[in-house]
Amino acid sequence: MSTSAPHCAVVGRGRLGTALTAALSAGDPSTTATERTRAAVSAGDPSIPRMRTVRTIAALREALLPARHSGRTIGLVPTMGSLHEGHLSLVAAARVACDVVVVSLFVNPRQFDDAADLAAYPRDEARDAGLAAGGGADLVFAPDAAELYPAGFATTVGVRSVAEPLEGAHRGAAHFDGVATVVTKLLNAAGPDLAYFGAKDAQQVAVVRRLVADLAIPVRIETVPTAREPDGLALSSRNARLSPDDRARAPALHAGLTAAQAAVDEGEREPAAVAAAGRAAMAGLDVEPEYLELVDPATFAPVAALHGEVLAVVAATVGGVRLIDNRTLTLDGRSS
Ligand code: AMP
Repeated sequence: MSTSAPHCAVVGRGRLGTALTAALSAGDPSTTATERTRAAVSAGDPSIPRMRTVRTIAALREALLPARHSGRTIGLVPTMGSLHEGHLSLVAAARVACDVVVVSLFVNPRQFDDAADLAAYPRDEARDAGLAAGGGADLVFAPDAAELYPAGFATTVGVRSVAEPLEGAHRGAAHFDGVATVVTKLLNAAGPDLAYFGAKDAQQVAVVRRLVADLAIPVRIETVPTAREPDGLALSSRNARLSPDDRARAPALHAGLTAAQAAVDEGEREPAAVAAAGRAAMAGLDVEPEYLELVDPATFAPVAALHGEVLAVVAATVGGVRLIDNRTLTLDGRSS
């Protein structure tokens, strides 16, 4: 993550609500991070500021016009709602670097490859708006599907190459087509100076960086590190769907990535052997990865050797819930 965009004013407004701040700190270790965040919002923290919700592109543009005209920087945090501390770390990064922070809440039907997954996706706009406000957002953009995809909508933004392997292969081309199309539309709607994405969805970040470069969209893409539970499980809206037994196995993805790094630390330099060490650690926790591979973080092509930037990426379905994670491998204490 970079929060030092030179053209951005740093506005340390200290707007995190007190209960929310407590929720975002270590808090009671017997509760999950998401439970702590929920508790803060339901506690009705009076220091959480008021924030506007707009539902149309026209209203969003109108709301942002004064900031744009006065040269203030606009940060956009695109989300599908069901906010957790991972999302809020994006909002916090935007809050530090930008004058105006917009959080979009839109469960994008075009990026779901599975209708049941789309139907099961949790939706609670009031809760999300409260969390966004407490995290420092100025504006929530919560359009319905007809606003972003009106009758006659016929355009798809399709990124090839980087979008094709791994998540693209497992979820089908429509997934990243859906992501690329909605991100392009959100960037066009909000016209932000900066847009914030989570490192957890590393291939998504690479796809977005590619499309922004290819289409010359005037926005700077910022990547924010993955927020995790204490046992290493990457925060995800999907974690709530894990049964207690599956929740106990879910840190296997993080364990696999940790084992891959340990193999490198012990001197292993063959990408296939490093990946095999990661898969073996996962098997020990009774989780079979769909993939665990070492890739170039910009192209998502498999690496032939361990030098330059190398990302270990993993996906696995645990108790019917598909999870992904990744970590940058370091070589001799440095990023490889
Ligand atoms: P989603 O609502 O799942 O589309 O996610 C919205 C944004 O939050 C994406 O840029 C995600 O990469 C990011 N995000 C999701 N989970 C995490 C996490 N655990 N840590 C950091 N960012 C995250």
